[in-house]
Amino acid sequence: MSDKSDSPKSSSSGKPSGEPSEHRVHRYMSKDLSCRISVVNSGSVVESVRQIQHTNPIATVALGRTITGALLMASQLKENQEVALDFNMNGPLGRIYAHATFDGKVRGYASDPQLDWQPQQGLILSPYVDGGLLTVSSFKPQSALPYRGTVEVRSGEIAEDLAYYFQQSHQIPTLLSLGVHLTEYGMVDGAGGIIIQLMPGSDPKVIDQLEENLQDAPIVSEAFSQGASELDVAQAFTKGMEIIAIDHDHPIHYSCPCTKKRLLRSMKLLGLEEIKRSIEENESIESQCQMCGKAYHIEVQDLEMIMRDLQNENLH
Ligand SMILES: [Zn+2]
Repeated sequence: MSDKSDSPKSSSSGKPSGEPSEHRVHRYMSKDLSCRISVVNSGSVVESVRQIQHTNPIATVALGRTITGALLMASQLKENQEVALDFNMNGPLGRIYAHATFDGKVRGYASDPQLDWQPQQGLILSPYVDGGLLTVSSFKPQSALPYRGTVEVRSGEIAEDLAYYFQQSHQIPTLLSLGVHLTEYGMVDGAGGIIIQLMPGSDPKVIDQLEENLQDAPIVSEAFSQGASELDVAQAFTKGMEIIAIDHDHPIHYSCPCTKKRLLRSMKLLGLEEIKRSIEENESIESQCQMCGKAYHIEVQDLEMIMRDLQNENLH
């Protein structure tokens, strides 16, 4: 397999489109039913988001890991269910958000895609994070409100924080590895992740085995950049276990459902004074969706509508 070239030429010609990629989340179950596993090669999706949001290397790594984690977690839900990961962190990294659906659609953003970073500082996230909160929301079509769980951000390295969330909020022992591998030009030449979760009532010794496997398990993003398959990665992490593939035929796909209406709703956050000022100056606004980069033209009439909404809300 040589589809993951690290030459800058071939990577930069990729379009930041939302076309379905050739990859999907691969799911497995250990034959003894002690654990379930999902693996994804998310390189093309993470490269799309890098091109759309012009993230620098440290932001690409943070956002890429979060998007990959969301895809893995969403794959373990049910049809029509969705999950959102909201890392609200103190420190330069700020907020990193990702939303994924069971059928492989994902979107996300970094609040500061160009945060201050020097190449010699490496790609470790924790120095850019000074605590904060991780909120995981799961959406089910039959319930109006999402289920939300919040934990403290421990390291900011993303995988560790998600594993901590599962342990704290659901008491599910979880092993997670997420990675983004970049070329020297900062383009993504490999990204992916694996999640392994212990099923209720399983022998805790399984964890010992899995932890032992970690000693010589590959770095997932590097394995994918060198052409490994999802099965190769799953087998390396579950050495000594027999695993069976579970059907999950949903190509992963960077996809944003934004509309002008949604954007107008979010513009209320600008506040009444700011909206009034633009109206007085008869100023239409060019506004871009943070997640997909789509540009929307906001007319003065639209602003007047937001103003009326805000005034009504203030009366209540
Ligand atoms: Zn959008």
